[in-house]
Amino acid sequence: MSQTHPYRWLDNALTTIHRAHWYRSTADIDQLSGVRMVVAGQPLLNFAGNDYLSLATDPRLIAAATQALQTYGTGSTGSRLVTGQRLLHQELEESIAHLHQTEAALVFSSGYLANLGTITALVSDRDLIFSDKYNHSSLKNGAILSKAQVLEYQHCDVADLRAQLQAHRGNFRRCLIVTDTVFSMDGDLAPLPEIVTVAAEFEAMLLVDEAHAVGVLGTTGAGGVEQYGLQQQELIHAGTLSKALGSLGGYVAGTATLIDFLRNRCPSWIYTTALSPADTAAAIAALQVLANEPARRDQLQQNVDYLQAALVDLPIGHILPSQSAVICWELPNAQMALQVSATLRSQGIFAPAIRPPTVPTSRIRMTVMADHSRSDLDYLVSCLRSIKKTV
Ligand code: PMP
Repeated sequence: MSQTHPYRWLDNALTTIHRAHWYRSTADIDQLSGVRMVVAGQPLLNFAGNDYLSLATDPRLIAAATQALQTYGTGSTGSRLVTGQRLLHQELEESIAHLHQTEAALVFSSGYLANLGTITALVSDRDLIFSDKYNHSSLKNGAILSKAQVLEYQHCDVADLRAQLQAHRGNFRRCLIVTDTVFSMDGDLAPLPEIVTVAAEFEAMLLVDEAHAVGVLGTTGAGGVEQYGLQQQELIHAGTLSKALGSLGGYVAGTATLIDFLRNRCPSWIYTTALSPADTAAAIAALQVLANEPARRDQLQQNVDYLQAALVDLPIGHILPSQSAVICWELPNAQMALQVSATLRSQGIFAPAIRPPTVPTSRIRMTVMADHSRSDLDYLVSCLRSIKKTV
């Protein structure tokens, strides 16, 4: 047996990641971070976050979180089943159920945990999962963890989904279709009406992840399901409190039976500490703002429309189709995406390069916020246009 150092392979793996231009690192943010932010001392315009409604720095959310800290303390100290829940948790779940027009909801410590745990609870080795090829990592890993047979269908391709259902559905007990509604690294919207129809035809459950759609799409900001008028369908709504709602945590909403089952069978809810009081209170405040200030969503939509219309005549690559506040500029390769992101940074714009293996092709991911001004958007467009073909 060769005596190599057991951790040496980590250096080699990192070298390979560097060589492929896939290396990732973090940026250090100073101060409050809204449309304007300071990264490592440099003031930047923020086109990187998921704070679509500019709520993460809203004084009302900060006040609600502060009040909850003073009332309940910092931590939830344990699982809700073992150490009890705060009334705030119940209040938040009622607000989420109200938003999605479902009977009940369950909040998790993150959207990632909501997806992992829910999929694991709903299906197992006798079952089948169909997953859109571009689904978020939490859906993909939830599917793997569940031990069900996982089949991917081509991105947003309902004909492919139907053909695969036809070929395989009969061989399995339960079937679950999982899809992002707004795809996080592309910005396009899943064809939900057709997916709902196919799911009903093949007696499949359907889990939709509204992480990037809540607060952005639909007349009340409930997301893609509302945008398509599908609220009366029985399906499983997953979402996050960490993007347009400006807090932290995730959730599942659906029938009272579904939620009762998850409370009893969902490992990432049962065996982990409940959402902190401050995060819970901030999310409740965010849902109140969402309900009371539709103008915020209108402002966001106007900004999205304005930017989409202005993003023409770019020197290289092209803008991917988007129906949301996520707008991606696809570029020929990872190195170029990194260089463009760095050039934008030198011009005062924070917009990250997203590269394989996260996505199949490299791109700059830009996110629009309600609080971006016209001049912020114009400045972004002028910077994008000024990028040289050679970078
Ligand atoms: N689903 C999607 C589509 C996401 O983009 C994300 C976060 N990037 C999540 C789930 C996970 O949410 P959270 O950040 O709350 O863990």
